[in-house]
Amino acid sequence: MKKIVFLILVLLCLTAAVAFADSKIKVVTTLPDLKSITELIGGDKVDVFAIATGFQNPHFVDPKPSYILKLSKADMFVTVGLDLETGWVPPLLNSARNTKIQKGGEGYVDASVNVPLLQVPSSVNRAEGDIHIFGNPHYWNDPLRGKQIAQSIYEGLVKASPDNQALFQANLKAFDDKIDARTKEWVARMAPYKGSKIIAYHNEWPYFEERFGLKIVDFLEPKPGIPPTPNQLVKVIGEIKRDDIKVIISSPYFTTESAELVARQTGAKVVVLATSVGAEESIKDYFDLFEHNVGKLADAFKQAYGK
Ligand SMILES: [Zn+2]
Repeated sequence: MKKIVFLILVLLCLTAAVAFADSKIKVVTTLPDLKSITELIGGDKVDVFAIATGFQNPHFVDPKPSYILKLSKADMFVTVGLDLETGWVPPLLNSARNTKIQKGGEGYVDASVNVPLLQVPSSVNRAEGDIHIFGNPHYWNDPLRGKQIAQSIYEGLVKASPDNQALFQANLKAFDDKIDARTKEWVARMAPYKGSKIIAYHNEWPYFEERFGLKIVDFLEPKPGIPPTPNQLVKVIGEIKRDDIKVIISSPYFTTESAELVARQTGAKVVVLATSVGAEESIKDYFDLFEHNVGKLADAFKQAYGK
């Protein structure tokens, strides 16, 4: 008899444990930045998995089968949208066969919907391999646009778990307040370098450029997604000399040869910035991302301009 009671107790505990684990909202995000914001809004009510790492090119991620399993069990899916992940998200979503998180589904969150976009072309044109056809998709690199991303994620979480709305709302408010306060600090740190001209490898910094008052003159890629060509590099070298540009910004996933070649020819310095959470070990959340980039860029300018 005792044995039976014990067994029943064990079973009850196991059921409770399973129910507890299941009570978390299972979220899959494409990028670690979306994961970080989801965790900041969802708190301990969410269990979040990001498909891409912080040092991968977000346009080109290998759609591994293990991601399909995660997606098949997800309650919510968060994507950057604007075709940023067009090469890898549609095949993964198709294979996952989870209607909840398909485009238009209850658990599908397109983080771009509340974001004021830059570089939206008047017509959609994939000519010559351009991969930014719906406007520039790298909007998470502006901390203030992080608030609009958070708003979309908040709305998704409320749909997934209406009972926790008050908690999510409080977390959203805390996130917004912190972003506002920190952005003021970051903008102040970059203020001495306002108007500085720079060159970028890929056209993924217009939101960062706008927020921090920089002027990106040109790119090593002749078009977004097209690797640097000799013609383009000659053009850029001319621009750097003409405008006395001191800094070239690149990202962890680009090869260094062409940026270094241009640097050797001109004396400009190559600065590799983080485009996502997790690009460096110290970048653990969305706030760390800007702390890192603003610090690194301000140091490079300080060295270059001696102020
Ligand atoms: Zn891009």
